[in-house]
Amino acid sequence: MTELVVFSDLDGTLLDHENYSYAAAQPALDALGARGIPLILATSKTAAEVAVLHKSLNLGQWPAIVENGAGIYRPGSKDADDAAYTEIRAALDRLPAELRAAFTGFGDMTDAKVAQITGLPLASAQRARQRQHSEPGLWHGSDAGRASFQHALAGLGIQARSGGRFLTLSHGQTKADGLRQIAAELNARRTLALGDAPNDTDMLQAASLGVIVRNDHGPGIPELPGEALGTIRRTAQPGPSGWAEAVLAILNDTKD
Ligand SMILES: [Mg+2]
Repeated sequence: MTELVVFSDLDGTLLDHENYSYAAAQPALDALGARGIPLILATSKTAAEVAVLHKSLNLGQWPAIVENGAGIYRPGSKDADDAAYTEIRAALDRLPAELRAAFTGFGDMTDAKVAQITGLPLASAQRARQRQHSEPGLWHGSDAGRASFQHALAGLGIQARSGGRFLTLSHGQTKADGLRQIAAELNARRTLALGDAPNDTDMLQAASLGVIVRNDHGPGIPELPGEALGTIRRTAQPGPSGWAEAVLAILNDTKD
């Protein structure tokens, strides 16, 4: 039985919105490490992208939730199962031509194009294109066309979710599904989840305790019922400073 397992979003949560640094969270990362509390990264990134950060954070064998809950990264595993991705790409090609033509997925783009539209360095864009479970892309058509596109994909068992700039196609899993699966594997008694954006909401609500990390640059998360109940709280500080503030306070509250 693991007493506590921590799940965390990356961008705008553990990583600073501007410079992608987790330096301000280091005291809290050290405190988790010292107590042997698992830290499970939960991100929209691919396994190839998250592997780099997972290593620099010294997260050992802990799994991570990738592609927004569509997959689980297991360090050291050579599992390169991309069946879900292949199925999504095949479904796209079964759509009526005018709907298909209005969507440009990462699989339709070069690494250089993904670097250009995301602002990622080329090597990171190349890792972002190593997809196994979901397909982000740009919609170039009308709003009505997008509704038809979503409806047609739904008929093929694929969900298209709008997350700001990208429309992401998946089989509908969220970060909350990843949280439930890993919490069960680790036999967690309690779970703590931290996130800053609407795509974290399900995960925050699925955890024993959720923390909304302040992000003044994003759409933010509207007030959740858990806030009145005390199962969800908000940080005063943004990004990794807020992350450290919340994690240290919670560890302090739960000291043996
Ligand atoms: Mg985020």
